[in-house]
Amino acid sequence: MKYTLIILLLITASVSYAQITIDTSFEGANARILSIDNSANSLKMESVLKRGDIHNVVFYFKVSGIDSTRAFKLKVKYTQQYYLPALLAYSYDKITWYRISGAIVGDSKEFTNLYSRRTVYFSHGYPYVYSRLNDLISQYSGNPFVTVSNVSTSELGRAVKLFKFTNPNINDTGKFAVWVLGRNHAMETHSNYVVEGLMNFLASADPKADYLRTKAIVHVIPIMDVDMAAIGGTGKDQNPIDFNRDWDSPSYWNAVKDVKAKILQTYSQNRIKLFIDSHDPFPSNADTTMRLFMYSYTDTGRKSVNLNTFRNKLFNNGGYWFGRYPIYPTAGQTSSRWVDSMFKSIDFAVSIETGWVTRTDGNTWTIYFYLKHGEVIGKGISDYIAQSTPVIESNEIVKDFVNAYPNPFNSSANIKFSISKRYVVSLKIFDALGREVSREELGTLNAGTYNHKFNAANLTSGIYFYSINDKNGTTLHKGKLVLLK
Ligand SMILES: [Zn+2]
Repeated sequence: MKYTLIILLLITASVSYAQITIDTSFEGANARILSIDNSANSLKMESVLKRGDIHNVVFYFKVSGIDSTRAFKLKVKYTQQYYLPALLAYSYDKITWYRISGAIVGDSKEFTNLYSRRTVYFSHGYPYVYSRLNDLISQYSGNPFVTVSNVSTSELGRAVKLFKFTNPNINDTGKFAVWVLGRNHAMETHSNYVVEGLMNFLASADPKADYLRTKAIVHVIPIMDVDMAAIGGTGKDQNPIDFNRDWDSPSYWNAVKDVKAKILQTYSQNRIKLFIDSHDPFPSNADTTMRLFMYSYTDTGRKSVNLNTFRNKLFNNGGYWFGRYPIYPTAGQTSSRWVDSMFKSIDFAVSIETGWVTRTDGNTWTIYFYLKHGEVIGKGISDYIAQSTPVIESNEIVKDFVNAYPNPFNSSANIKFSISKRYVVSLKIFDALGREVSREELGTLNAGTYNHKFNAANLTSGIYFYSINDKNGTTLHKGKLVLLK
């Protein structure tokens, strides 16, 4: 009788405790169970290193069997506190996300909370998976201002998607190129919502978007490291090389190689005006105190002045302020540094860091706010292009900026060039044997960008060279033209 009672008590006890299980079989999932304590309604886990990962930041998994009548404790084991989320994200449906704070206890950060359901998703931040791009593609389907193409194929065979936003009813000739990249660091999922918000703005009927589409072709690659985004990797500092330290030649990753080639190709057609790479810092407390900031390779001179003008445009559209930090030169070749060094005529190239936790206005970042933030950046780009006259330093020759289009041409070509100070300018055309076949005096021109129409009515089909010279005969710019009559 006595034993029967004990056995009954044991059965009752084991029945009242739920059986906690986890699931990591879905896209972007990442977690390894270390221990489950059903009686304490708690679970201890850690982030798993994927592919060449050296940090374990990303986790995303589903827990079932939580006892919803009492607090559930999730313990996240860490290797460095720096990599832990300041706020843990959870959801019941992978759509609506909430966040809670935790406390460091021993080798883990513990997040204790009462959940209203027995199945809960947990993540280091708001997850953003690769297949979400398919939702965007469906959403933009039929929108005349959006075209989507594959710019590269990843090492694991996934397409790297390029979204192009412009008004197709206006000739691309003379438009500026704007480039925006996201997820060079796969763990930085929040920065992906910023890019999505920007894309939604670019596809929208907003008058500033409408204006921007008439003036520019905006190229957006929302996810660079598609494999790590899909398999739930951290990516940052991964082996053999970090995606955002791989821009110096020769590049290792397919996406970096192919996107570099694509940027160079667009540059041959449209002057690149702005380049933005979207990032988040590490998700720990210390980094989030910086909230919103920018890295730029140059923090003096013309590009710096332009960047401050852009910051003002963002402030005027969103009411909050970006801090600025120079890129640490020892960190290797980042995308924005590569673009900055390749294209001297660009207004600025910048890496934008969006914080994980607190906004400058005191609000906590949510998916809604990240999307809105992307819209603010879009409006800022539009305003910048509408109002900016790029500052050009008096001693700076923008040697790389000359462009002829169309090229090949059949009767006349536009030769577009920038000069950095006042010159008496002439345009000379030479044939393939180096004989001067045409000369035009363009007069005294102030610093700025010019578009000169060259008429080839008197010339026969063939290859020609042009040079733009000052009054002493010094060549400011030169290039090749192909005439096909
Ligand atoms: Zn980053």
